[in-house]
Amino acid sequence: MNNRLYGQLIFELSHTGRRAYSLPQNRFDGFATEQLPKELRRSEDAELPECDEMTVVRHYTNHSANNFGVFNGFYPLGSCTMKYNPIIDEEIAAMSDFCALHPLQPADTCQGALEVYYSMQSLLAELTGLSEFTLNPCAGAHGELTGLMVIRAYHDSRHDLQRTKVIIPDSAHGTNPASAAVCGLQVVEVKSTSEGLVDLDDLKRIVEAEGPNVAAMMMTNPNTLGLFEKDIPEIAQMIHGCGGLMYYDGANLNPMLGVCRPGDMGFDVMHINLHKTFATPHGGGGPGSGPVGVREGLEPFLPTPRVVADENNTMLHVVTGEYEQTLGSIGQFFGNFAVILRAYVYVLSLGREHVKMVGPLATLNANYIKQRLKDDYKLPIKGLCKHEFVFDGLADKSTGVTTMDVAKRLLDYGYHAPTIYFPLLFHESLMIEPTENESKQTIDAFIDVMHTIAKEAHDTPDVVKSAPHNTPIGRVDDVLAAKHPVVTFKQMTHEQD
Ligand SMILES: *Cc1c(COP(=O)(O)O)cnc(C)c1O
Repeated sequence: MNNRLYGQLIFELSHTGRRAYSLPQNRFDGFATEQLPKELRRSEDAELPECDEMTVVRHYTNHSANNFGVFNGFYPLGSCTMKYNPIIDEEIAAMSDFCALHPLQPADTCQGALEVYYSMQSLLAELTGLSEFTLNPCAGAHGELTGLMVIRAYHDSRHDLQRTKVIIPDSAHGTNPASAAVCGLQVVEVKSTSEGLVDLDDLKRIVEAEGPNVAAMMMTNPNTLGLFEKDIPEIAQMIHGCGGLMYYDGANLNPMLGVCRPGDMGFDVMHINLHKTFATPHGGGGPGSGPVGVREGLEPFLPTPRVVADENNTMLHVVTGEYEQTLGSIGQFFGNFAVILRAYVYVLSLGREHVKMVGPLATLNANYIKQRLKDDYKLPIKGLCKHEFVFDGLADKSTGVTTMDVAKRLLDYGYHAPTIYFPLLFHESLMIEPTENESKQTIDAFIDVMHTIAKEAHDTPDVVKSAPHNTPIGRVDDVLAAKHPVVTFKQMTHEQD
């Protein structure tokens, strides 16, 4: 491996005068930069890297080879559903008919794209048992915020203004309390039982104390321990009984797809992470799509733009200002259209019949791994899980080998690490989600490696504690990186040899 190429910025490879391009002749005869208003002109040349084409190509190719994605290998990152992204999704998303569109072009010139959008709105409603969807939000967290804004708008419209509390389980994803805070709501945490489900007694206590102030309860199902919240009907009754609404964090919809529907369970508002449940390469902050669905009666509050059909169902229109109670715009234009398009292709290519296989296969794969590893790794919550489950580190704690060490050692064996140290319910959380796509051979190979690491932890713990040994970068100082992030590069005006 050529270390010189790793860790260097393109700026550091720069040599004055090197070029990888030639510009066409200026077609605007007689136009000179001097004609631009002074305040729009640079006083100095931009400091851009100057490189030959080979250097540029090698630089980025080597960087891309350092990346790990689902196209490289098994990626069992719990809570994130890193599933395989079918090539047909990419092919269709790359068609110029779609990617050369402009969000402001007249509706009669892009009826095909609007049809994708319109069909996806109704397809998601059908899959979840809700009344209407907006596809505008650009991430799960963005969907949570939008959904909570809908809930606030609903309470406000009824002059029920003191409802500022949101009940959130202690196992929830960090974005839940964060979204509530951004929406100006206060979080009330409800405990989990030792079985990992919402504690009904604790919830009863909260509802008795806070009833008239409760705006909503947010639930993730299956929850972040991969467990189906079996008491949802009772919880929904309690929350509705005190005048609150039920919010479904749909990030874990994967095992439910085509099997059961949040709308039928008593939820009023939900978001879906298209980039998790419905394919799309994600990670590193995007791109995402977090559509929000609502039950009947809450549609007027949804944001705009929306795509609607005319009376005869012959033309699709984009509507913005027509709804009096709408939240209005919550982002740019229509959201991440290319992600919505990929999701649409994903569902259509599976078809009604195969969509139903996603959940059972994801569940089978997770339970298989769990059963085969449960002697080497500590399983705090027994019983059947859904699409994912959590170990609390190695079973044998005497070796001093931590979850972090196991995760780093997996990299040496060519696997992406599972989610670690989340959920916060256990000290050494190791959260595994294989998804429905992986073959038994891939899963068995992963299980073998996990057994090997457990054995190494016992026989040669230092090997695991000092892993990874064959990645370009070993262990980074996460705390330093978080507290003192260096996100800019100081340009040096020097010549390299
Ligand atoms: C991923 C996730 C979110 C947030 O979704 P983003 O698209 O990353 O913003 C929320 N809740 C749960 C349970 C998640 O796994």
